[in-house]
Amino acid sequence: MPRSLDIDVVIFGGGAAGLWTLDVLSRQGYRCVLIEKTALGTGQTVGSQGIIHGGLKYSLDGLLTQSAYQIRQMPGIWRDCLNGSSEPNLSDVALRSDGCYLWRTDSLSSRLGMLGAQIGLQVTPQSISKEARPSILKDVPGHVAIMPEQVISPTSFIHSLGMRWADRLMHVPNDDVIKFDKDSTGRVTSIRITQSTGEYELRCHQVIFSAGQGNATLREAVGLSADRMQRRPLHMTIAKGNLPVFNGHCVDGSKTRVTITSEVTSDGDVAWQIGGQVAELGVSMMPEQLIQLTTSELKAVIPGFDPSCAQWSTYRVDRAEGLTPQGKRPDQPVMHLDHNVITVWPTKLAFAPSVASQLQSHLSAHVPIRPGFTLSDLELMKSFDKPKVAPAVWESATQWWSIQPNQQPVSVRRVA
Ligand SMILES: Cc1cc2nc3c(=O)[nH]c(=O)nc-3n(C[C@H](O)[C@H](O)[C@H](O)COP(=O)(O)OP(=O)(O)OC[C@H]3O[C@@H](n4cnc5c(N)ncnc54)[C@H](O)[C@@H]3O)c2cc1C
Repeated sequence: MPRSLDIDVVIFGGGAAGLWTLDVLSRQGYRCVLIEKTALGTGQTVGSQGIIHGGLKYSLDGLLTQSAYQIRQMPGIWRDCLNGSSEPNLSDVALRSDGCYLWRTDSLSSRLGMLGAQIGLQVTPQSISKEARPSILKDVPGHVAIMPEQVISPTSFIHSLGMRWADRLMHVPNDDVIKFDKDSTGRVTSIRITQSTGEYELRCHQVIFSAGQGNATLREAVGLSADRMQRRPLHMTIAKGNLPVFNGHCVDGSKTRVTITSEVTSDGDVAWQIGGQVAELGVSMMPEQLIQLTTSELKAVIPGFDPSCAQWSTYRVDRAEGLTPQGKRPDQPVMHLDHNVITVWPTKLAFAPSVASQLQSHLSAHVPIRPGFTLSDLELMKSFDKPKVAPAVWESATQWWSIQPNQQPVSVRRVA
């Protein structure tokens, strides 16, 4: 006989969306558990740049699009959580920066981009004087501004949210040991899991798939179509070494030419993640080619930048999103309700609170709150291993390259 647990909500996937939802629903009193296949945050959340966007990126073409409108509330919500004045209390999350610098390559179209960014947003770029610039931007010819968009350390964020409800987390590394039982109407009634410690049955009212690209396989496993999702690949560059701590975007017209975010690593170096247009162009490139492109771009947009002060690597990661007709970025989070299964793609890390509150509203209307977990329920949950937090991208990179000083074109050499 399997050992049974009565659960209100079973969440699959412990990235930003799943963990924020677990927190909101658990605080509301739901009997809620989260099943993670790999390590918390694996894929997009830990691979992300951690910028709490307020809509600037969405409005660079000068129009306040629907997506800019939706996202403009997010920085305020996050700020309250990050300073501990609102739940979830994220005051222990490492803040990479309180704002992001913004500068442009000196062209008319990019000036228009900066103007467009100011239309209708709650966080708008504030011009800064030459004296107030960070030293890395001191020789940039044009205008420099700062956006009050906070930048968080994604691993620290995942660690903070994950530890709040550690007793509700279950590490189940193999999809094959999970079986979904459905009734004649198509509702999932229970989830059976075979572990080395025995058989378990999670009788459930609601299932949430928040597993990023893993949602496709999960949907198939419950007989739903997998083609509600799109993947948009990126090839990101990372650098580690004697670099300044810096977070900012270089804008060219309506495009972000490079986006740099940075964090101090456990061994005291500074690591940069570099995204933006280079990460899109780099999708078809080998790591060496992308490093050449990224370092050339950095030299072009940051006068005096010397890439030989760091080691360089790359990582590939797909953005997993709800399907849109032309494969473009969705305007906002995408959710599908099929019987009692909700599949969610937040579109942006910044949207995690919005996803959780939409799910909470849905559940409040459909799933009653019952007495919480008993001590024996909590004891049974201890039979499951607890997932770890995925390592930062520079910790999982296995190959690094160095840049030869003063060579044109940039010359890249493998170091490890
Ligand atoms: C390079 C990059 C940079 C980005 N930068 C930003 C940024 O600066 N700001 C911003 O707002 N957004 C950014 N984004 C977007 C943002 O990262 C994502 O929208 C967000 O992190 C998605 O979170 P998620 O929880 O849906 O999925 P994920 O973070 O992908 O998490 C999914 C989780 O589900 C688990 N999982 C997978 N399959 C299963 C399964 N079968 N069963 C159980 N668990 C499973 C995974 O192991 C993982 O832990 C960026 C994205 C990328 C790729």
